[in-house]
Amino acid sequence: MGAIVAIVGRPNVGKSTFFNRLIQRREAIVDAVSGVTRDRHYGKSDWNGKEFSLIDTGGYVVGSDDVFEKEIDRQVELAIDEADAIIFMVDVESGVTGMDEDVAKLLRRVDKPVFLAVNKVDNPQRMADAVEFYALGLGDYFTISSINGSGSGELLDALVEVL
Ligand code: GDP
Ligand code: MG
Repeated sequence: MGAIVAIVGRPNVGKSTFFNRLIQRREAIVDAVSGVTRDRHYGKSDWNGKEFSLIDTGGYVVGSDDVFEKEIDRQVELAIDEADAIIFMVDVESGVTGMDEDVAKLLRRVDKPVFLAVNKVDNPQRMADAVEFYALGLGDYFTISSINGSGSGELLDALVEVL
């Protein structure tokens, strides 16, 4: 049994893109707890020789962009219960949103390691824009591009250190 890492955040920040980059194989979606696990994708990954399970959260059941804030909060609470570490993903293109602030509020109360990942930093210009995410009160962040892979090494180095 390896450690479990959950990726949380509002829709369209790039969680699934990042997940798909990292996983080597997709695990069967456990359906024992109906309605709880179906909207989550599980995969196996490893970094620096350390294997871990990755959970991609998101509105798979809903099947539209119309994911309610309540649902996102529920996903975050599940992740908090289930995971050993949490990657909280936000989007530098849109900047800080109200939904990001709500998720941050839940995560600030958590004892588990939380890694703030500012995604869509596809070029160095966007690096500077990321500073606004300090406002979420979660401390330092990692800048990544799930599309071109930049920055993910630094994030994964820090992540596996706590697993
Ligand atoms: P999710 O809803 O959080 O799972 O987000 P998705 O992974 O489905 O991505 C939402 C959109 O953002 C898609 O159009 C992705 O191609 C795009 N996207 C994801 N990562 C990046 C990135 O690093 N840079 C840019 N420019 N777009 C990205
Ligand atoms: Mg997704």
